Amino acid sequence: MAELLVVGSVALDSVQTPFGKVADALGGSATYFSYAASFFTPVRLVAVVGRDFPRAHLDLLARRGVDLSGLQVSEGMTFRWAGEYGYDLNEAKTLDTRLGVFAEFRPSLPEHFRGTPFLFLANIDPELQYDVLRKVERPRLVALDTMNFWIKGKRRELLRVLAEVDALLVNDAETRMLTEEPNLTKAARTILSYGPRTVVVKRGEYGALMVTDGRFFFAPAFPLESVFDPTGAGDTFAGGFMGVLARAGTVDEGTLRRAIVYGSVMASFTVEDFSLTRLTRLSELEIEDRYRTFREMMRIEQ
Ligand code: AMP
Repeated sequence: MAELLVVGSVALDSVQTPFGKVADALGGSATYFSYAASFFTPVRLVAVVGRDFPRAHLDLLARRGVDLSGLQVSEGMTFRWAGEYGYDLNEAKTLDTRLGVFAEFRPSLPEHFRGTPFLFLANIDPELQYDVLRKVERPRLVALDTMNFWIKGKRRELLRVLAEVDALLVNDAETRMLTEEPNLTKAARTILSYGPRTVVVKRGEYGALMVTDGRFFFAPAFPLESVFDPTGAGDTFAGGFMGVLARAGTVDEGTLRRAIVYGSVMASFTVEDFSLTRLTRLSELEIEDRYRTFREMMRIEQ
């Protein structure tokens, strides 16, 4: 079992879906990621929150064993994101992004974080992702996530960090936006030419596609009947994915495939409720049970 380091947002989210809404609920890419990954391996988190951030949220992560010694508490407001979904839950509409304390954030890594073998650069300013990448000893695997906000606003900085990572995890709209290529198969190949060896395209209710070393793997999404809030599905997917790789300590094709399916399993829980509510009620037994259902769902004979 190897340790896993994540840098990303820890946020307060205000979200509206056709099924309800929440205001200033616990969110953020690093939050969903670390909570999900903690079911598989020890997680270390680098981020910043403001003094307005509720202590109880941090306790939630601490109880999962997440190492919070890289989390700074600064003067100012916590990062806030407001978003909305229509009946097509695959598409989030950002209503507001307030960087708050992230605008001035300079990550400083505790000494014992520097040699962490698995690194996830979760959705955050690509300059911060690059900064963290510079501060660690070369990890065994580095993966990165991003979103339209940064693809539009910091494209050059994003391409710079992308050139140095092993894997990119993005959703289909981001894949098209990043490459300006409408065909996903071609777009994935274009991303490989930017640097990563592996691309994972998350396609919401249509599953996830992985291209690695010229080979394709596709996993469906779990056929859920109640989806309340897709916020954090991508980050939870990434947490399951990286958690399984770090737990295995290796990155061969078989482990990558298993990681994709566990990513899908974890994401399928997150969307069943708002914020991290479903994850906080989740047991290892339920994870293994859904993983078995996935295997059964994907099985074909001859
Ligand atoms: P996703 O897994 O893509 O649904 O990610 C949703 C999470 O990303 C939310 O909890 C937000 O707080 C966070 N988020 C939204 N916009 C940004 C941004 N520009 N930078 C970093 N995190 C963000």
